Amino acid sequence: MSRLLLKGGRVVDPAQGIDATLDVLIAEETIEEVGPRLQARGAQVLDLKGLVVCPGFVDVHTHLREPGREDKETIATGTRAAAAGGFTAVCAMPNTEPVNDNAGITLSILEKARAEGAVRVYPIGAITRGSRGEELAEYGDLREAGCVAVSDDGRPVASARVMRRALEYATAFDLVVIDHCEEPTLSERACMNEGPVSTILGLRGAPAAGEAIMVERDVLLAELTGGRVHIAHISTAASVDAVRRGKARGVGVTAEATPHHLFLTDEAVRETGYDTSTKMNPPLRSEADRQALVAAVQDGTVDCIATDHAPHTVDDKKVEYDQAAFGIVGLETAVALCLDRLLGAGLLELPHLVALLSTNPAKVLGLPGGTLAAGAPADVTVLDLGKKRQVDPKHFESKGRNTPFGGWILKGWPAMTLVGGRIAWKDPRFRA
Ligand SMILES: [Zn+2]
Ligand SMILES: [Zn+2]
Repeated sequence: MSRLLLKGGRVVDPAQGIDATLDVLIAEETIEEVGPRLQARGAQVLDLKGLVVCPGFVDVHTHLREPGREDKETIATGTRAAAAGGFTAVCAMPNTEPVNDNAGITLSILEKARAEGAVRVYPIGAITRGSRGEELAEYGDLREAGCVAVSDDGRPVASARVMRRALEYATAFDLVVIDHCEEPTLSERACMNEGPVSTILGLRGAPAAGEAIMVERDVLLAELTGGRVHIAHISTAASVDAVRRGKARGVGVTAEATPHHLFLTDEAVRETGYDTSTKMNPPLRSEADRQALVAAVQDGTVDCIATDHAPHTVDDKKVEYDQAAFGIVGLETAVALCLDRLLGAGLLELPHLVALLSTNPAKVLGLPGGTLAAGAPADVTVLDLGKKRQVDPKHFESKGRNTPFGGWILKGWPAMTLVGGRIAWKDPRFRA
């Protein structure tokens, strides 16, 4: 039996309340034991002194683009980007071409991921057929084929009646409904946040209220149905307030925030001179929204940090601002941004950050992992908190180069990712 001993790292596993210098023994694909000074007993030893050893990070919101838009990203390149960014699993949004709204597509994604994926891939099925917002997809088939949630991400579920039925139907199969919250009649042809900056720039804006209206609706519908709703890429003060009040009443609601909404505002559109890598949906919001989002991460209203990794070709982005595609890549910058801007800035303790990136994502979607407990899959993210490096999109594993963070110097980076006990990626300068 092949064994691997991760020696002398700072082990941070919020699921077990562990934050201490310990060894982790891996047998084949599984965590065998975590403890002080474990004997190697023939295991291969990796010296991780000075590094942090965490349960593998899980991105609950990734666009892998395959099938259909392999010019933007493939399962192979997207999962390599995940591994290089410190993620051992990604949840793949269904807005591919065709949309992942049936078991056949789910199974083909999983087959491709097994053959070519660098990390685990958990498909998310569509809420409605073709994500058209009308008839519900077959959730039983999707669940059986391997989908871990349903979402029409990229589009809101405009009809409250459809959302209600989705929540009722999903509950029967223990699926979470992930909603992209946007009142579509308030955001027609919008390309940034509505506010003073959009007025100055002469760009059409989407008001923050358009998101919060749908978050309020979803919280109320989750309460009505007893279903579970997960709010994707939450971005406004009023939205987090709605989630906070829902949680206080015991409603089945959870939420994720992206690094770009935590660390940038709509001022970035002006400061970069209409750089289309500041264009995404939901848009970068005001400073007051950003601060409310950070506070919501700190107080636990936000459960997960997710990337909304949305790779595009140069041609999709190298056009007038209002014509450019929405979205930015995130897998290779998210962890470093959080380590620098949340941990480094003293806004969050490391165990809380690991919970946001691993423990909670696994719990919200009911995935294996999210812990280093004995018997868990040997998915491990190793961090180097002292490493300082500049973000260089030229070296991304992703096909996408559309990031507003190019040139940022960040302290704290992933050093290695292990998936099922095997090294999926390591920093080329890593000594082990
Ligand atoms: Zn979305
Ligand atoms: Zn998305």
